[in-house]
Amino acid sequence: MIMKLLLLGVVGYVIYFFFFKDGGFSKKINKDDSETMVECEACDVYISVEDSIIKDGKYYCSKECASLS
Ligand SMILES: [Zn+2]
Repeated sequence: MIMKLLLLGVVGYVIYFFFFKDGGFSKKINKDDSETMVECEACDVYISVEDSIIKDGKYYCSKECASLS
């Protein structure tokens, strides 16, 4: 009986640990995705994907650069 309780405690701890670990890991991946840097096709400036303008499958830092090429 004591062994069963001990096993249940260990399993519970492992499940809790994996959920906690996955939560932190997912948060880190999401943060990395939003901060992925891409190079502007026109002026070679690096900008984050969120701030970039995508035209014809290429990344540009501004509307001016996007209209240049
Ligand atoms: Zn540019």
